[in-house]
Amino acid sequence: MYTMLQKYFGYTSFYPLQEDIIKEVLRQRDVFVLMPTGGGKSLCYQLPALLFPGVTIVISPLIALMKDQVDGLLADGIPATFINSSLSYDEIDVRRRRLSNGEIKILYVAPERLVMPEFLQFLQGLQVSLIAIDESHCISEWGHDFRPEYRQLKVLKERFPRVPVMALTATATPVVQADILTQLKLSDGKIFKASFNRKNLYYQIKPKDNPYHQILQYLEGRKKDSGIIYCQSRKTVESLAAGLQAKGYRALPYHAGLTAEVRTENQERFIRDDVEIVVATIAFGMGIDKPNVRYVIHYDLPKSIEGYYQETGRAGRDSLKSDCILFFSYADKFKIEHFINQKENEDEKQVAYKQLRELVNYCESNVCRRRLLLAYFGEHFDEPNCGNCDVCLEPKERFDGTIAAQKILSCVYRVDGRFGINYVIDVLLGSKNQKVLQNRHDMIKTFGAGKEYSKSQWQAFIRELIQLRYLGLDGDKYPVLKLNEKSRDVLLRNEKVFLTKPEEKPHIQRAEVREDYDRTLFERLRVLRKTLADQEGVPPYVVFHDTSLKEMSTYYPQNVADLRSISGVGERKLRRYGDVFLQEIVGYCKQHHVEPKPIVRKPIEPSGEQAKSLTHQATMELYRQDLTIQEIAQRRGLAVSTIVSHMEKLIQEGEDIFVDRMVSPEKQNRIRTIFNELGMERLTPAKEKLGDDYSYEEIRLVRAKMMRE
Ligand code: ADP
Ligand code: ZN
Repeated sequence: MYTMLQKYFGYTSFYPLQEDIIKEVLRQRDVFVLMPTGGGKSLCYQLPALLFPGVTIVISPLIALMKDQVDGLLADGIPATFINSSLSYDEIDVRRRRLSNGEIKILYVAPERLVMPEFLQFLQGLQVSLIAIDESHCISEWGHDFRPEYRQLKVLKERFPRVPVMALTATATPVVQADILTQLKLSDGKIFKASFNRKNLYYQIKPKDNPYHQILQYLEGRKKDSGIIYCQSRKTVESLAAGLQAKGYRALPYHAGLTAEVRTENQERFIRDDVEIVVATIAFGMGIDKPNVRYVIHYDLPKSIEGYYQETGRAGRDSLKSDCILFFSYADKFKIEHFINQKENEDEKQVAYKQLRELVNYCESNVCRRRLLLAYFGEHFDEPNCGNCDVCLEPKERFDGTIAAQKILSCVYRVDGRFGINYVIDVLLGSKNQKVLQNRHDMIKTFGAGKEYSKSQWQAFIRELIQLRYLGLDGDKYPVLKLNEKSRDVLLRNEKVFLTKPEEKPHIQRAEVREDYDRTLFERLRVLRKTLADQEGVPPYVVFHDTSLKEMSTYYPQNVADLRSISGVGERKLRRYGDVFLQEIVGYCKQHHVEPKPIVRKPIEPSGEQAKSLTHQATMELYRQDLTIQEIAQRRGLAVSTIVSHMEKLIQEGEDIFVDRMVSPEKQNRIRTIFNELGMERLTPAKEKLGDDYSYEEIRLVRAKMMRE
């Protein structure tokens, strides 16, 4: 397994769960793989395919992408092919013959082809070792990509009763997951669920003021990065794409109003790095394998958290840092509400409202974005600071904003609750525009009373007052500001309001994390890669991923042995591209007098379940020798909390660990009472209630025991 990983894929270690999954499949058992995009699902069937004697069938709905997938495998030296409607009969015949001769290890097919009786019969005549169902959520009507033809895949278990089936999906919702299991009759299969946390993605919500301008500002200095910008309507897609082109960006539109040819072509040019930007409606992106999408921008409010998560998920498949930016405005919220209102079906209406509410809550919240997103999919994320979202990185400072709030509210009162946000700000700033003069609002007391803040600061205050429910916003098309009960408390009863402190500079950019690689060399390698890819008619990432090029631009490999240690350089690529790339790098080093750096690589170690159980057993061993937790920690050079987590696991697995030896019966009783009261999900509330006499370690051990019971 390890040899294959290095030889074919050029990787030196597994991603989380990959090893466990592969081992389970090699035991010829069914498995269900739940991993976020970029989690490394493909390897879970591609590696076993190399170890099995027969052929592995991969079912995928994405005919347009099959060629690229197969090209990727061929570049790694893995005999793969696809059969779909894009091929001529003759060509299909040739491929079938190669399959019959056992020359192919991996075959990609679409579900509708697979279930044709004649084709099924053909497959049954082959030695099939594994069936992998990619994008398996397409079988569920609850999912966002239901495809009726997936329903027929139920026959697989009947037709191939002895062949292990692997279903894979990046869908995070539990309902869909359960549905897939039932539909595919995989109930005996083991489920592997990776965390859906995408550590490399930076989540940010920006108030939408002048989005075109905001996007230009963001793109400044990112001219060579690939990105997707999602918009709600075709019209916006067209105008934004044109607007970006006008500024010299290579951007293309993508929406359902374009012909299939244009869409395919635009997608292709994006994947091949001929253009950097695609401006699209949500029709774009499912299964896009492009690993180096550096940002996904939501120009408009998405319809649901699930959709938003899917779309942002397309960024950073290669696990390099990438941005997910959403432009939020209440005007967008009203627009969507307006659409929902026009729906006929009452159930649909309710669902849509709920989805919108959840999304708006997410945007308004001051809680870590990651925590909210993961919680939405039923995953606990407990770290106090995720270090990679706007809430965690730019914590907001508050100040006593009562006076600012009173100015706003009193202005709304005086303009009689008939005007929107921008008008009220005009009055506060003392703008003598025609509308203000016509309404004689230059005569009221609050006219020009707000010159101490800028327009965008007033906008921020008003938005916050709405969020805090001190102010209402009413109406569909031209929402107007309205006072409510809570406004009265501030205006008449002097209730204090705390607002976010205005930023010194209006748009603070996130502190750029400097990645340490040679950008000039990276650019040169990128050009070289593109030339080679074009010659071979494949996307550039099929030659090498950005991750590989970045490593080359960090270590400056000088010979074949060095190059072999770069991640993603397998034997086949070494032979095929090694010389050209080495030549470029060595030449560059001479020219710029650069010294290569040693490449430090950890040897492959057991990972996943196996490694885990080893470390648990080591702890158990010492426990049996009557050592205390502290002593075990000392002996093993690990933190006490780590040893406690081993204990928790061991207790839950039914090992003979006597909590009585570590926590007094009185304390245990008290802890039990508290957990029964508060539930066992979270530790912090229990700890707070129990006070300083109880340590986290004690509480965790008792909880593990309770869970075991
Ligand atoms: P998914 O299908 O889950 O979205 P992929 O299979 O496309 O993910 O893998 C995501 C990226 O991670 C790809 O660029 C792939 O080459 C890379 N990758 C997968 N497994 C490993 C590994 N063990 N080590 C390094 N890179 C890996
Ligand atoms: Zn966070």
